[in-house]
Amino acid sequence: MLSAAQLLDELMGRDRNLAPDEKRCNVRWDHETVCKYYLCGFCPAELFTNTRSDLGPCEKIHDENLRKMYEKSSRFMKEGYERDFLRYLQSLLAEVERRIRRGHARLALSQAQQNSGAPGPSGKNEEKAQVLTTKIEELVVQIEELGSEGRVEEAQGMMKLVEQLKEEREQLSSTPSTIESFAAQEKQMEVCEVCGAFLIVGDAQSRVDDHLMGKQHMGYAKIKATVEELKGEFEQLQEEDLKTSIRQLTSAALKQGEPQM
Ligand SMILES: [Zn+2]
Ligand SMILES: [Zn+2]
Repeated sequence: MLSAAQLLDELMGRDRNLAPDEKRCNVRWDHETVCKYYLCGFCPAELFTNTRSDLGPCEKIHDENLRKMYEKSSRFMKEGYERDFLRYLQSLLAEVERRIRRGHARLALSQAQQNSGAPGPSGKNEEKAQVLTTKIEELVVQIEELGSEGRVEEAQGMMKLVEQLKEEREQLSSTPSTIESFAAQEKQMEVCEVCGAFLIVGDAQSRVDDHLMGKQHMGYAKIKATVEELKGEFEQLQEEDLKTSIRQLTSAALKQGEPQM
């Protein structure tokens, strides 16, 4: 679903609210209305629309031409835009990493509860069944006594009660509580290490593919790849800077060493 703002953007262009002299052709890439994230590659606001990671709309201009102009400009990579972009992407990654850790903790907790058996809900069911068994055993003894005394009708009445109790006990063991079955399900779950979603182990390939092609997973995969890429670029730049300054220093040193005329 498009928001009203997105709809208007589509109909009238993103610069619909700008004064005529500010229209796209006149807006420079360094204008405050231009999205600097978009200039650096993409705007994260567009990655997760209508997912639970939705960052809300970006009101700034996303324009392919402005990006090309920025890339061709002599000020390319010199405005600190890429640093801001990297910092923002890293904060988004930190958030999803927290989500992944929470997911792991949740799975570990439900597994621990399941393994310990008590005082979980399964323990409660077993307790109830044990109480019923004791009662049944008592009744059976009484029925035998009644039978030996020839009080057949009373014994038959009690037999009915025993049957009822046995049925009740069977139901207890065949229908585990909802929490138990939830834990059993979670045992076969895992956390996606990219987007933090819960996945079912051994799920059908079509659902695995749906997940991998989903907005949220693709978005975080893109952020991760871009962070690595930007870090690599910055390291390379630093190295080049270092080499340049070493060259300058050595040439300065050589000049100093030259004999004075
Ligand atoms: Zn933007
Ligand atoms: Zn994922």
